[in-house]
Amino acid sequence: MAVLGHVDHGKTSLLDKIRGSAVIEGEAGAITQHIGATAVPLDIISSIAGDLVDPDDFDLPGLLFIDTPGHHSFTTLRSRGGALADIAILVVDVNDGFQPQTLEALDILKRSQTPFIVAANKIDTVPGWDPNEDAPINDTYESQSERVRQRLDESLYEIIGNLSDEGFSADLYWRVQNFQRNVGVVPVSAMTGEGVPDLLTVMMGLSQRYMKEEMEIDVSGPGVGTVLEVKEEKGFGKTVDIVLYDGTIKEDDTIVVGGQNDPIVTEVRALLQPRPLAEIRTESRFENVDEVGAAAGIKVAAPELGDAMAGAPVRVVRDRDLDDVIEEVQAELASIAVDTAEEGVVVKADTLGSLEAMADALDEAEVPIVRAEVGDVAPRDISVASTAEDPKQQVILGFNVDVLSDAEHRAETDDVTIFTDEVIYQLVEEYDEYVEGIEQAQQ
Ligand code: GDP
Repeated sequence: MAVLGHVDHGKTSLLDKIRGSAVIEGEAGAITQHIGATAVPLDIISSIAGDLVDPDDFDLPGLLFIDTPGHHSFTTLRSRGGALADIAILVVDVNDGFQPQTLEALDILKRSQTPFIVAANKIDTVPGWDPNEDAPINDTYESQSERVRQRLDESLYEIIGNLSDEGFSADLYWRVQNFQRNVGVVPVSAMTGEGVPDLLTVMMGLSQRYMKEEMEIDVSGPGVGTVLEVKEEKGFGKTVDIVLYDGTIKEDDTIVVGGQNDPIVTEVRALLQPRPLAEIRTESRFENVDEVGAAAGIKVAAPELGDAMAGAPVRVVRDRDLDDVIEEVQAELASIAVDTAEEGVVVKADTLGSLEAMADALDEAEVPIVRAEVGDVAPRDISVASTAEDPKQQVILGFNVDVLSDAEHRAETDDVTIFTDEVIYQLVEEYDEYVEGIEQAQQ
């Protein structure tokens, strides 16, 4: 399960609150902190939720909260990670309403047809909010928050309206007694914890409903997963944080990882689990483990990972045929590949998921792409962009990436314009304006 929403609306706080409650409710060891994810077992959820969740009613082991950076990694997990990110929480600050990244997250949820619930966060700041009153959101909200509620309504109904065209609405509706009409809008405060039990209750309901068939995780076969992040780690060189959604990964396993060019075939040197904060003062940040089984997140140290891409598949070879595994990885990458044209703009993005989303947005805006890659804007991207004949295409659009300093210099001398942003449609808008400017100048 993933938590999405606009920056500062409380995603981290909400996850921290759930984790914190889990620690208070259970023994410290009961929740497992993985790389990029936290597993909270059913009995802990049940004790946080009080009477609301009866463990006997569920045949799920618990909830795995994915805390991946950026909501586009979610797309990758959703489409390729199977059961791990089948439901979502969309966090919306009640004072701030729907913001660019909220809309973008909604768009992703809609496109991936993901059941989700809205956590209307920061209710502790709403004037007149009475935490003791067990009232539905619409009775308690006043003036300014009424406006926000209406906005929540409008956007949600718009999405649900669209989804119903695709015959999906019946599944998306979650009838929650006491909450906003048929849509799961749960008022919460990540600060005080109010509403968190209700949120978990609804999430468990959603999980039970949507994950049944997909919960059959094979925990013995060779590992299958997705790269969340590629990171330089002191003493280990380039490492990959992966989420494993099937099978196991062991030290010395041969693995195949999707790379910028060819699939990378390498051997696992170390599997690194983050240590609890308290232990870090005296020891290194990581603990070596011999083996990890699904569903889990782990940092993998191995040679040759420099070209690995966030969002790319990871496969353990073990007793399988290496060529078959390479083929599988190639096939998966091909299914994500962006169609490029002879001429067009250069697109860079932080993960394969966001690259796909960028390509979709540009396709809709009828902007051709000449090259689309995961990674920061580098000098060779400038070379490609500078060869375009049309000045409208001497452009690089970067989503959630940095511009390397030598690329910045080259761009100036080569007359290449670089746009970067953290919101896709803003990036597309900026480009549109730029094109309009050029067209006006030409007239
Ligand atoms: P993120 O960017 O979505 O992960 O947001 P954060 O969790 O970092 O929260 C952004 C800010 O809002 C922080 O200063 C939090 O302390 C604050 N915040 C988050 N949730 C609540 C809440 O329920 N009530 C109040 N009053 N503040 C909150």
